[in-house]
Amino acid sequence: MRLLLTVGRYFKQRFGCKVRKIPISLNGFTCPNIDGTVAKGGCIYCKNESFSPSLALNKKDFNNFKINSKMSENPLLELQLKDLKEQFTHHTRFYKDEFNIGKYMVYFQSFTNTYAPISTLKALYDTALSYKNVVGLSIGTRVDCVDDKVLDLLEGYVKQGSEIWLEYGIQSIYEDSLKLTNRGHGMEGVEELFAKTSARGIKVCAHLIYGLPNESPDMMLTSLKTILSYKVHSIKIHPLYVVKGTMLANMYKAGNYTPITLESYADLIVESMKLVPEDVMVQRLSAGVHDESLIAPKWCFDKNVQMKYIRSRLRSEGIDY
Ligand code: SF4
Repeated sequence: MRLLLTVGRYFKQRFGCKVRKIPISLNGFTCPNIDGTVAKGGCIYCKNESFSPSLALNKKDFNNFKINSKMSENPLLELQLKDLKEQFTHHTRFYKDEFNIGKYMVYFQSFTNTYAPISTLKALYDTALSYKNVVGLSIGTRVDCVDDKVLDLLEGYVKQGSEIWLEYGIQSIYEDSLKLTNRGHGMEGVEELFAKTSARGIKVCAHLIYGLPNESPDMMLTSLKTILSYKVHSIKIHPLYVVKGTMLANMYKAGNYTPITLESYADLIVESMKLVPEDVMVQRLSAGVHDESLIAPKWCFDKNVQMKYIRSRLRSEGIDY
């Protein structure tokens, strides 16, 4: 049986103990694809609230004010630092003894977490790294929101011994797909950006989506092969699903989008995992929304059911995830 390098296995090798990623979704952050800087309306499937219930916690204090990287000052910083502390405390309260978790990575998850004044990023990252047992950061972002200032800041943490990951949303390597899904960026310069990130000692995780409109299985596998050829340290793959209040929901209702089936998705995952080198960490192979905002496909309602099927399909091919 071939063992894929899962998050658990990677952290055990790296730190000798269990490490839990603590998801943080800070109010006040947005995305240049939402605020009109590169596009309006965001990706056609984007509904960050449905991915991150934590955003609702302190939402009213923020009055819908959003920050961006061009601001010289951030009037929300104190509120965001409070939000960070509350969410970290909330998520770690169960892990003390029960699960024998030794250390934490703080995962800045929702929206574009490098799209803020550099002083804000420094304050948030410094604070997260100062929490007890935090060994590093994982930061979700876009390829058009990481410049040398951000890399300099993150490299500084690497030099101090922290484990730093940048999680880049790629989704597809096809320009037509990126346009159709309103990503607001193309693939130009992505390989160079990944190389620059890695050269600073920062780990690269690339996200892909399977089941984008008009993409064939061959195209999805080609996206993966291309991303792997860019020497990423990790991948996350998830199926595209339709949630209420998105452009994709309109396409689906108009009969212009057919979601991928669980069987086809699992077939693709099996083929994909055969391509992943031993030292590339596979951080995620599923996704779901366990509430009434999910429109389709219904198999995305329960991640556990999804993963049980995918794991059994992988195992029948001699791959353990
Ligand atoms: S890049 Fe991410 S946060 Fe921005 S619109 Fe797309 S899915 Fe939403």
